[in-house]
Amino acid sequence: MYQDVLLFIDGQWTKAAGGRSIAVVNPATGEQIGTVAHADKSDLDRALEAADRGFRQWRKVSAFDRSKIMRKAADLLRQRADQIAPLLTLEQGKPVPEAKGETLAGADVIDWFAEEARRAYGRVIPARTEGVYQLVVKEPVGPVAAFTPWNFPINQVVRKLSCAVAAGCSIIVKAPEETPASPAELIRCFADAGVPAGVINLVYGVPSEISEYLIPHPIIRKMSFTGSTAIGKQLAAIAGAHMKRVTMELGGHAPSIVFDDADVDLAAKLLSVNKLRNAGQVCVSPTRLLVQENIYEDFVGKFTTAVNAARIGDGMESGTQMGPMANDRRVTAMEAFIGDAVQKGATLKTGGNRIGNKGNFFEPTVLTDVPMDSRIMSEEPFGPVAVIAPFKNFDDVIEEANRLPYGLAAYAYTRSAKTAQAIAASVETGMISINHHGLALPEVPFGGVKDSGYGSEGGSEAIEAYLNTKFVTQAGL
Ligand code: NAD
Repeated sequence: MYQDVLLFIDGQWTKAAGGRSIAVVNPATGEQIGTVAHADKSDLDRALEAADRGFRQWRKVSAFDRSKIMRKAADLLRQRADQIAPLLTLEQGKPVPEAKGETLAGADVIDWFAEEARRAYGRVIPARTEGVYQLVVKEPVGPVAAFTPWNFPINQVVRKLSCAVAAGCSIIVKAPEETPASPAELIRCFADAGVPAGVINLVYGVPSEISEYLIPHPIIRKMSFTGSTAIGKQLAAIAGAHMKRVTMELGGHAPSIVFDDADVDLAAKLLSVNKLRNAGQVCVSPTRLLVQENIYEDFVGKFTTAVNAARIGDGMESGTQMGPMANDRRVTAMEAFIGDAVQKGATLKTGGNRIGNKGNFFEPTVLTDVPMDSRIMSEEPFGPVAVIAPFKNFDDVIEEANRLPYGLAAYAYTRSAKTAQAIAASVETGMISINHHGLALPEVPFGGVKDSGYGSEGGSEAIEAYLNTKFVTQAGL
């Protein structure tokens, strides 16, 4: 069922000009399942020219009509979800129900931004002189270059793509080479829905070569990146040197705080499920679990039991709760993080090892007594590993929560409204979810502060990043 993935340039599905391709591997088996076309410079030039032409045409299409086409794309994505989800699982590893959930959530994102397209309002500012009209007008920023990672192959593309298309921009998407088929199917929905040729273009290749060529290019007016903080800083520097608008959705190391008045069973259940979701390869994954000292042992026991009960296996098999890691770099990274922590004195409560010798399976892992100088206390784990540490009081836990340069997501559990308010006000993150996990819906803001980036990929804020503000002042003749 997995077919070789092509580039999409100027409305055509096409092989790379140089005929090159990259192997795509199933992370559950280690076997090659297909290939993806590897763009050359000449392909990028064609995509740039197409995006330039596409923008000139698309910006003239009314928001009403853009919105209608987008809603059709959303409907197609829903209709095709049962075919697309297994492709996503084959290339990325997550269980099919998670893959289908991601696909359907993608359709909701398109619908949300289709509606936002019609609400990109300007305003009228009262003038100081009679007969003068002062207007604030929103215009599309221009052709966009978007770079997206392999952990949510559809979700990461659809947020950028939908914003751009809603605003009247064209876009070149550099989707992940390791998980190329599902984003290609997403883009097929837009093409089949009637988005004109050139408005959406899709390329794959060597990420650094493509970003270093596209971001400075005069045709590109904005870039958006999701990925690691280290790469984000490099790309933001290139964008800065060329004065390009930027949205950055980068890494996190989410403090997940359980106060002693919390529902411990609920906290252990929700945090364990969310820890193992997508094998922990989620930028908002709960990573530093900070538990008040008098409920610490109770929580560690319940959390460890819960992660040990998870069914791990091939995402294509029904009943699997956690699939393999998406690539072997993550397995190596988990081994290094855990080895470093244990060598420095951490206690391995459970897990710690890869599973079997086929595919990238890794045990859910719980570490306690982790010394502060362990790498995992400062670097984003991006895997099924949880660190649990006790804290004494509110001030201590806030100090630990805000210790790192990351500031993406935080979680807290408490029955006290006062503590909930205080934690929401004190934590230095772009998002906090209290007593439940409620992040990443299309209609709510999604983004970080500090080293986790800037800009929002959800809510009514998101489309702003794809719009210029123009001031028009006009006097009557
Ligand atoms: P990486 O940092 O090299 O790559 C992360 C993503 O950025 C990939 O999709 C990659 O294709 C892309 N990328 C890398 N260099 C690029 C460049 N010069 N120009 C454009 N795109 C570029 O490493 P990786 O092994 O793929 O992932 C490891 C780390 O990345 C993880 O530990 C995690 O911190 C981070 N990550 C974050 C997210 C997220 O949702 N924020 C998603 C995936 C990976």
